[in-house]
Amino acid sequence: MKQDHQKNWKSNTRLNHPERITPKEGNPPLIAPIYQSVKFVVDTDVSYSDQFIYSRLGNPNLKQVEMTLAEIQKKDACVVFGSGIAAISGTLLALLKSGDHIISFRELYKPARILIRELLPNFGIESTLLNLIDLDAFEKAIRPGKTKIVYFESPTNPNLEIADIEGIISIARKYNLIICMDATFGGLHQHTQYDLDLVVQSLTKFANGHGDILAGSVAGKNSLIEKIRNMSVTLGAVLDPHAAFLLERGLKTYLLRYERHCKNAQELAEFLASHEMVEKVFYPGLKTHSRHELAQKQMQQMGAVISFIVKGQSAEQFCKKLKLIQLAVSLGSTESIICPTHFFFGSDLSVEDKKDMGISPHSLRLSVGLEDAEDLIEDLKQALV
Ligand SMILES: *Cc1c(COP(=O)(O)O)cnc(C)c1O
Repeated sequence: MKQDHQKNWKSNTRLNHPERITPKEGNPPLIAPIYQSVKFVVDTDVSYSDQFIYSRLGNPNLKQVEMTLAEIQKKDACVVFGSGIAAISGTLLALLKSGDHIISFRELYKPARILIRELLPNFGIESTLLNLIDLDAFEKAIRPGKTKIVYFESPTNPNLEIADIEGIISIARKYNLIICMDATFGGLHQHTQYDLDLVVQSLTKFANGHGDILAGSVAGKNSLIEKIRNMSVTLGAVLDPHAAFLLERGLKTYLLRYERHCKNAQELAEFLASHEMVEKVFYPGLKTHSRHELAQKQMQQMGAVISFIVKGQSAEQFCKKLKLIQLAVSLGSTESIICPTHFFFGSDLSVEDKKDMGISPHSLRLSVGLEDAEDLIEDLKQALV
């Protein structure tokens, strides 16, 4: 209904102030609409802090997906970012200041390692990167009063090392460190039994699951999340409402997809491990994995990323022969994708670290999709010659 003051509006005014259609109470859309609006009309009768004002500060789609994510991860609160690496940088910049020290591990997603090694020193923040399985070295590296955070992944990208989460927590608690784990590979629903202060996710991967948006999140205690949320506003690394809508849609099938991803991955890992042209397979669901028992204790499902080393050909030669599985980075999508690890994930590591971690010109990371496992195995088989 046009109001009186609108009746005489001319065309340009009308085009810029169309009718606002709001469904009546009792007739809401079943699926929340996309609030693709940067700004909201502010009510002077209501406290500003209880309203949506500007989408960098908050937006209904972001708020909805943050609530879903906090709940499935069994945390008090969650804040979403425009990418996984934005969630990591936002978290570390929010909680560390000049003079502080962070402990992390060489077994990290490469951009996170670069962030810690190369960006944080610009702000006077020091770091020590250790071998993930050496917890004695972890305790020795703690500088009481100065070390503020321990940051780690499990399983790790790209080579599926498993962190001893209870071991890390028990040492970190003695020295009052904030414990932050990147749980992208294990997903949103696993590791929730652990007393982790913060859990980071690249939602770009299994959470969204369709390879069409970048997003990240960090979940944890209210007091920490508030600090990180303020940093996200300052950095401006926010998620777009349309991406939040797609993410919420992806989450509806997340548990179903994750289960099927893992079932396929177990079959492929077993096939690869049995093949004579495969030197080694890294998959926590295999008995041959050095931390298989620990993985079984910590996770109910072993994930859908497999690393392996081929014999008699380079990783690139192997990829070229594949017909179904495409060479692409990222993981956790419906399509199976594969990537040589040497260039993409290890180029910043020392020769010794690479050797120790199983990263070589013959190593690959395979993200197993939702295709029929037989077709995937057929493709791998014809390329393993
Ligand atoms: C991909 C990934 C990230 C970074 O996420 P983006 O959404 O690509 O920025 C961080 N950690 C892990 C373990 C990842 O696999």
